[in-house]
Amino acid sequence: MRVKRQKQQKKIMAVYTNSFQFREPFQVLVDGTFLNAANLMNSNLEESIPRIFAAQVKLMTTNCVHVELKTLGYHYKVPASIAASMEKRKCNHYPPKSPAECFQGILGEENKFRYCVATQDKNLRSILRKIPGTPLIYINKSVMILEPTSPATTKRAEELELEKSKPLSHEKILVLKKAELQQKESESNLAFNNKKKKPAAPNPLSCKKKKPKIVPKLVAKLEAAPLIKESDTVSKVKSQDLEKTLTSLKRKKDVNLSEIDESINDVMSTSIKKKRKRRKSNKKLQSTD
Ligand SMILES: [Zn+2]
Repeated sequence: MRVKRQKQQKKIMAVYTNSFQFREPFQVLVDGTFLNAANLMNSNLEESIPRIFAAQVKLMTTNCVHVELKTLGYHYKVPASIAASMEKRKCNHYPPKSPAECFQGILGEENKFRYCVATQDKNLRSILRKIPGTPLIYINKSVMILEPTSPATTKRAEELELEKSKPLSHEKILVLKKAELQQKESESNLAFNNKKKKPAAPNPLSCKKKKPKIVPKLVAKLEAAPLIKESDTVSKVKSQDLEKTLTSLKRKKDVNLSEIDESINDVMSTSIKKKRKRRKSNKKLQSTD
């Protein structure tokens, strides 16, 4: 039974350590009712309370608790002396308040200093259950018990776990900046790709005028040359002239095709003209005869 209870209490304290940042040594505020109950069962709080948490604890009380026990008279002498020996948590209550009011004042609405409270006051425990993250201890039939987490504590623990899973404000900014950066990168990549698709501007160095390919046509003219040479209309001399011209043109590989045509036409026309002249002169001679 004890082992089972210890496991349960360990599980309960895990909620406080994980969600509410409770750390050893756990601070335990003890009131007069609890000190009295512990005294009646001859329990040493320095030993019994650390067993509940399975951890180191720091027992504390307040001046208000001590004053109340002293005013209760002889029957509360032992608990009053125990309270006097304990560390006092400053509460600044002058004149002293009731322990219930005193503890509520210390814990506030959030229990931001992370106190555990040990009390037999049912009404006080009921009030403190509404403060999220407040472990409560009480004695039941000579057994010290750590209360299960209250609904307020459970709800707040769930909210805190949810907040942990969300990115923090500075993380949100980082995420947004990263997204913005990625968008810019993708846009610049897109622009670069579009630019790449366009035909590249021609390299001025590679923009020299293409030389006309005259060799095939030149060869064709040269092949045609023997026909002209064999023709009756062209003299042997002029055929030689034509051949010379074509040879020189052939050497000049860079010559334009129009130059070849002109050269051939020149040779052809001069030879035809000269032949006509010769015929005319022959006719004249025949007529004079
Ligand atoms: Zn006080």
